[in-house]
Amino acid sequence: MSKITMKTPLVEMDGDEMTRILWEIIKEKLILPYVDLRTEYYDLGLKHRDETNDQVTIDSAEATKRLGVAVKCATITPNADRVKEYNLKQMWKSPNGTIRAILDGTVFRTPITVRGIEPCVKNWEKPITLARHAYGDIYKNVEMRIPGPGKAELVYTDPDGNETRELIHEFKGPGVVQGVHNLDNSIESFAKACFQFALDEKKDLWFGTKDTISKTYDARFREIFDSIYGSQFKEKFDAAGITYFFTLIDDAVARIMKSKGGMIWACKNYDGDVMSDMVSSAFGSLAMMTSVLVSPGGFYEYEAAHGTVQRHYYKHLKGEETSTNPVATIFAWTGALRKRGELDSLAELSEFADRLEKATLDTIGEGIMTKDLALITTLPSSEVQTRNTEGFIESIAERL
Ligand code: NAP
Ligand code: MG
Repeated sequence: MSKITMKTPLVEMDGDEMTRILWEIIKEKLILPYVDLRTEYYDLGLKHRDETNDQVTIDSAEATKRLGVAVKCATITPNADRVKEYNLKQMWKSPNGTIRAILDGTVFRTPITVRGIEPCVKNWEKPITLARHAYGDIYKNVEMRIPGPGKAELVYTDPDGNETRELIHEFKGPGVVQGVHNLDNSIESFAKACFQFALDEKKDLWFGTKDTISKTYDARFREIFDSIYGSQFKEKFDAAGITYFFTLIDDAVARIMKSKGGMIWACKNYDGDVMSDMVSSAFGSLAMMTSVLVSPGGFYEYEAAHGTVQRHYYKHLKGEETSTNPVATIFAWTGALRKRGELDSLAELSEFADRLEKATLDTIGEGIMTKDLALITTLPSSEVQTRNTEGFIESIAERL
């Protein structure tokens, strides 16, 4: 059998710990036998980030702008313990944060649904994709304890020194006050990424804010979404048979719970923080959640939503058996290969991605799975066989 050829290389961002081990096995057993894989390789493992003073992370993001599609392994975000463990020159920033800042992207997270792993919300038939705005609001807040009586105000000073003031509250006693902001630019990028991704995926887009209460701040989000939709996307949405639906955030939550799923749900920063944990835990497991960073420039970076699975890695280093779930990492590869296939008009490559996903889901549907899934599956225990890390990937390879 001849291997599937590629035109443009993928940007390959290697990572850390247990996911780095999965990365190698996935390539060796599931991709290299079938695809004449072309990648531009960047080692984002912590040791190499330290050696290059984190330049490798920046280079990998710049390469994504040049080549268009990246696939990323989970990476360690250093904390004080990691600085000691790896003897780091400094506490490097989160690679995902660095990459997102360069690509100016929005992250879309989608659960992988499969026979035997049922969502807690029984009417959810299709996955819900969550898009979280990743700038501003309370994550860039300024806050103050108010010790006692006094006046708190919002003050804006323009470049000529003119002031605009708005009374927040005339305090009679102690309390608290908080200032938050957002930027039209950032909201516009977020809106464009959401509309573009909805078109790519042919799914409806939902968005909710509290604009009945926050008539200027939250209303600005709604206005920007409305104006970008009207001027750039409405006709494309009509042609694709999908809709854009805006409603109050609380109404959105109520409707999502009663829906069949299948939509992309855009959320402001805080709502996205809270709702993504709700949606992912209701669908089953972080190990079954994919994540793609979509930039308004049309660049894509695919990864698993989970981290480097440190606890399993330490077991692996001690020579103990592990049963780490590779599904989200496999789907990062298939997402990237499928997108590359679309962009380069290589139907064979996209079809290979479909086949690899099907082989993965069939394996689980037939009862062969890793330990994390065996603990939550609804399949009868007589049908379930738990596999170790490598054994599970080999079972997928057999079906592939
Ligand atoms: P984690 O790697 O997501 O793992 C947390 C726990 O979730 C694991 O100990 C394991 O539970 C379970 N789990 C996650 N993925 C799994 C999988 N594929 N298969 C089986 N079980 C899985 O989070 P963490 O331990 O908090 O973080 C470890 C490192 O990852 C940190 O250094 C952090 O900076 C980094 N991180 C990176 C990213 C990223 O690159 N996108 C995201 C998050 C965290 P049990 O131990 O109970 O089996
Ligand atoms: Mg959170």
